[in-house]
Amino acid sequence: MPMNKQTSCDNEFDPNSLSFEQAQQRIQQHVTTLTGIRCVSIREALGRVLADDVCSPINVPPFINSAMDGYAIHASDIPASGDTTLKVIGKSFAGGPFNGTVQTGECVRIMTGAVVPEGADTIIMQEHAEVAGDCIKIGSEHKKGQNVRHPGDDFSAGDIIIKAGERLSPAKLGLLASVGVTEFNVVRTPVVAFFSTGDELKGVGKTLQPGDIYDSNRYILFGMLQKMGVQCLDMGVIPDIKQQIEQTLKDAAKIADVVITSGGASVGEADYIKEILDEIGEVNFWKIAMKPGKPLAFGKINDALFFGLPGNPVSAMVTFYQFVQPSIKLLEGEIADNTVTLTARCLSKLKKRPGRKDFQRGLLKTDENNALVVDTTGIQGSHMLSSMSKANCFIVLAADAGDIEAGTEVEVQPFSDLI
Ligand code: AMP
Ligand code: MG
Repeated sequence: MPMNKQTSCDNEFDPNSLSFEQAQQRIQQHVTTLTGIRCVSIREALGRVLADDVCSPINVPPFINSAMDGYAIHASDIPASGDTTLKVIGKSFAGGPFNGTVQTGECVRIMTGAVVPEGADTIIMQEHAEVAGDCIKIGSEHKKGQNVRHPGDDFSAGDIIIKAGERLSPAKLGLLASVGVTEFNVVRTPVVAFFSTGDELKGVGKTLQPGDIYDSNRYILFGMLQKMGVQCLDMGVIPDIKQQIEQTLKDAAKIADVVITSGGASVGEADYIKEILDEIGEVNFWKIAMKPGKPLAFGKINDALFFGLPGNPVSAMVTFYQFVQPSIKLLEGEIADNTVTLTARCLSKLKKRPGRKDFQRGLLKTDENNALVVDTTGIQGSHMLSSMSKANCFIVLAADAGDIEAGTEVEVQPFSDLI
């Protein structure tokens, strides 16, 4: 093969590459929701994905109540003009209702959340009432029914309040508590095993010999997986020895729903992942027309999903973020796609060769006019974690784009809190 036709990471136009979108689609087609479900209580449920719809057993609010501190009155007592005086005949506090009936010419002192007493249909804010002894004086500016919350305003008994596939946030835990639902089914927590491969990699705390580097990927994966709330199993650093990698992959696939490796997935002499996977699983090795992160292995070892991420830490992060993260969410049956993309004015010139979709690391902020602007975080090497650690977003440049001039509007994908 002539030199200029050789496929390498420097060759931006690789006819054998999949587009980013094709790779996304192919992965999604292979992922099915975990079958196991677990019945949990509210305090165990944060971050889990609901397995069945939850219906409310009650109306919320459950009774007619006041939205303000003030006075409960008959709307017919609101004067057409001028003032009117009403007699205060009792109190309705949250948890301490007034048991009588309000007649015209009367009112009841009422607090936020308290039951609106029989006869009354309108609340006057206390700031709009002038107290004089056991009476109040009100003006004509009020509307019938104001400041009253009705039963079922939020939702009614029997309504679905959270759907299967929704991830439980603090607001949703509150919602479940507000209707008195204490136990429900969630999809079981996925187990994710991961390890790094490479003779040069040392765990932190070890002394570096010439040619060694510290392993960063296991700490990155640990962090991102922890944030996803999965159960993670760190299987360490495995040297570039075929039998050891093979054994570790087999062990991992026995206990995990997802197995992730980093390194050894390209075409170097010590890159055994492809060879091993051909023997023990089904796997696709893809060159994806994206930067960073061109080589990615995806497949299965028995029932476990397998992702072989590139070794360079930034590439490992980008491919995890764009492919592994959504796959784990699908595995959990999550229905929402929370990916948000924005358009921002780019403050710096960005280097880009047409051919691959580029995920450059950027800092999204607002300028003095409150407009969204984005700046590069500096040199973009796929081994350089410094530019990743300063970033809060990807600047997403289309495959066919060339250099970006400062001042151009660009697509930006803010990081979820995973990075
Ligand atoms: P590989 O994919 O194994 O060819 O690795 C590509 C580059 O990433 C090499 O420079 C490796 O030293 C580096 N690398 C691989 N794994 C890690 C890791 N876990 N942490 C930091 N750098 C890594
Ligand atoms: Mg290697």
